Amino acid sequence: FVTSSKVFAESLYAERGMNWIIGAHVNKVEAGKVTYELLDGSAGEAEFDFSMLIPPFAGVGFTAFDKAGEDITSKLFAPNGFMKVDAKYDAGAYENWKASDWPRTLQNPDYKNIFAAGIAFAPPHIISKPMSSPNGTPINPTPPRTGMPSAMMGKAVAASICDMIKGKTNEPTHTASMSEMGAACVASAGKGLFNGTAAAMTVYPIIPDFEKYPGTGRDLNGTTGEIGLAAHWVKHILHHAFIWKAKLKPGWTLIPE
Ligand SMILES: Cc1cc2nc3c(=O)[nH]c(=O)nc-3n(C[C@H](O)[C@H](O)[C@H](O)COP(=O)(O)OP(=O)(O)OC[C@H]3O[C@@H](n4cnc5c(N)ncnc54)[C@H](O)[C@@H]3O)c2cc1C
Repeated sequence: FVTSSKVFAESLYAERGMNWIIGAHVNKVEAGKVTYELLDGSAGEAEFDFSMLIPPFAGVGFTAFDKAGEDITSKLFAPNGFMKVDAKYDAGAYENWKASDWPRTLQNPDYKNIFAAGIAFAPPHIISKPMSSPNGTPINPTPPRTGMPSAMMGKAVAASICDMIKGKTNEPTHTASMSEMGAACVASAGKGLFNGTAAAMTVYPIIPDFEKYPGTGRDLNGTTGEIGLAAHWVKHILHHAFIWKAKLKPGWTLIPE
């Protein structure tokens, strides 16, 4: 059956007696206290013992110059500091957004020897419908370039660069678009060999394609979510498998991204 990820996530919190606040923009953090603004414009405060805040994503903030000493920062980077690649950056309003706006080769359009994979590339726009509070504060989730798609992009870019260096071609030969690939995620929800749980999720494609999959934007054969002990074991096995892969130990190429 089809249900929103909101129900999936919120039921996990409810089952564990946790309260949640969504659609919030944190505007101040003090010792043990966080202040936020909600989508309806109201303000709130929450106290904490432990907190993990992920700040709004931005690039490193490089300034770039060409051989002649000319500043080419705006040619290479979007205003948020991420690198411009073969994405459609002039898609305009939400109603015009398409899955095809997302980059495929990850190559900079002006400098053919420069690529940006994973977290480094500038997305054409956010994924969800943009929201802001009545005070004008944008409150949106950042497009997630998580581990699996980042690695798939890195692999495609490396293969393209290889072919270009070997002189086989002048153009990238491999592509990895987030609107054409799926992603899997296993999120721990409690450890324990026999009573641990994790949520196992897949989405295909990562960027919803409402033209190809009207309604949800996703292929329901490749989009699933389930919580249980099996996913906890999968998470445990993947933990060791990925460290094995990272160390390039025998058979590492057989372990998927
Ligand atoms: C708290 C947190 C939890 C996460 N949990 C998950 C998860 O459970 N599952 C998942 O799939 N993803 C998760 N992610 C996302 C995942 O970590 C990233 O999507 C992924 O690491 C991006 O890969 P990347 O190679 O593009 O960039 P990075 O892994 O950030 O690699 C970039 C590298 O470039 C280096 N660098 C930067 N500037 C320079 C420079 N000037 N010169 C040389 N080197 C430089 C950095 O040191 C870094 O090593 C999480 C992210 C965060 C922050």
